[in-house]
Amino acid sequence: MTDERTYIDCYAMVGKKGPKDVETAYETEVLLEEMEWCGIQGALISHSTAKEYDPIYGNRMLLREMKKSPRLYGVWTVMPHHTREFPNPKDAVKEMADHGIRVAKMYPRVHRYPFSIDFCGDLLTELERNNILLMVEGGHCYNPDLLEPSNQVLLSDLDAMLARFSRLNVVLLASRWESTRYVNALMRKHKHLHLELSNHQGNRAMEVFSEWYGADRVVFGTGALEKSPGAAKAFVDYCTLGEEEKAKVAAGNIMRLTGIQEPKPYQKKAIKDSILQLARQGKPLKDLLVIDSHAHISHDGAEGIGFLHQPYGDAKSMHDRAKLMGIDAMCISGFLAVWTDYEEGNLVVVDAMKRFPGFYHGYAALQPQYVKNWNKEFKLWYEKHKMGGLKPYHPRTFIPYNDKAWAPWFQYGNRIRGYALIHPSPDVVKEASDLAGKYPNISFILAHSGASFADARKAIEVAVKYPNVFLEITLTSVTYRVIEFMVKHVGADRVLFGTDQPMRDPIPQFGWMAYSHCTPEEKKKMFGLNMQKILKRVRISK
Ligand SMILES: [Zn+2]
Repeated sequence: MTDERTYIDCYAMVGKKGPKDVETAYETEVLLEEMEWCGIQGALISHSTAKEYDPIYGNRMLLREMKKSPRLYGVWTVMPHHTREFPNPKDAVKEMADHGIRVAKMYPRVHRYPFSIDFCGDLLTELERNNILLMVEGGHCYNPDLLEPSNQVLLSDLDAMLARFSRLNVVLLASRWESTRYVNALMRKHKHLHLELSNHQGNRAMEVFSEWYGADRVVFGTGALEKSPGAAKAFVDYCTLGEEEKAKVAAGNIMRLTGIQEPKPYQKKAIKDSILQLARQGKPLKDLLVIDSHAHISHDGAEGIGFLHQPYGDAKSMHDRAKLMGIDAMCISGFLAVWTDYEEGNLVVVDAMKRFPGFYHGYAALQPQYVKNWNKEFKLWYEKHKMGGLKPYHPRTFIPYNDKAWAPWFQYGNRIRGYALIHPSPDVVKEASDLAGKYPNISFILAHSGASFADARKAIEVAVKYPNVFLEITLTSVTYRVIEFMVKHVGADRVLFGTDQPMRDPIPQFGWMAYSHCTPEEKKKMFGLNMQKILKRVRISK
């Protein structure tokens, strides 16, 4: 009875904010509709005005929004009182109690104050004494920018605070998937720290973190309305935790931490979309062809790769996880091949293709700065090992895709009617347009087109001009409504499901598409039929 499990989203924001894409939703009404679409019965909301303008003013606006539904619970934006911009801690806590609010949130970076004991100690003392849950956003590692909107505390500062306030319950929101090695140290050390995973989509993170820290310390949140709430919900529904653990993550933990009452179930409504129906129950799409057009692989036994903790990224583990969603095939490139050593990394792919024939399809990676004889490479990877894909990669070669260094490969790809996965480069619109015009027989797949509406527009600009261009969705951002936006502008025939697994867990990416508001027919094309056509076009001859 997965559909009946109660979900309370601990991480949603409403209200207008500063720079925003015209397409990004922000209204409480949209949130409420989407919650019902997904089967999320309650949400803790905070107000953007409290973050970006003034906590007191924004909190008043929050109270107005909360009146719109008993399914909404408030998160009070707080800050230290020393500069007289906010009530002293005792008054602040009393005001929260008067409004029945049990959760406080701080934004030290946006509000430009030190997250230190000297400045925040009085406030945190009072929160701890009154058993109020504190939420902070943080955990970005390679972009510790002061103005990064969802990186409000540095983990080193959080560590010091938790050491001082050891009974204060804290939820770390929006922590990122490449910060596992940092967060692990904090989670082991501070038993009252909890993790929310809407941004921390590490491979099998639900299961791994529940094993490491206990399911009591993993809390369901969505990042709505920037992110697709369905993506986060699917992560719980489809993961392999037991029912008791899932119930804790979905709602039990946040109810225990805040004392909020369980929201009412929704009135039963017939769900017409057959894919949504299965997603709501956490069931695989068995009768449907699902092909992951953008995946990677690591070697057997790998627990991590370079900058990233990344377990279960080998051929067998990914094949196992695919069954949970009903993924029938995957197009993979070797992480090692893209990152460091194409020859060694391609061999990992070849091995997977041999062990799971028909399931794994190979993207060869070739690095022009190392290739000595292109023909030899073509013979080996395409003729002998039956790969059909090309994975040139700008971020690790710094060579623009329309540079002559790549040309022999694209000429060959054009001959075999192959498919090329193009990761964004600084000038990707120009580069992809040049290629798509010059090599009309290659299916060009623009990776990460769903990263944001701005990125989608760039990909759309290329796709409307060239029929051999496709938009692949994947990224951690799981941008809410961007799949619908791409379908509206280029049609469902030109959009492809992809996950980037095992860098990211495949489930949230899967949920993003399954919960989209496209029609079941459109979803079928994007989930598998389009990529099947692309694979079938390939003609490798000697
Ligand atoms: Zn990738």
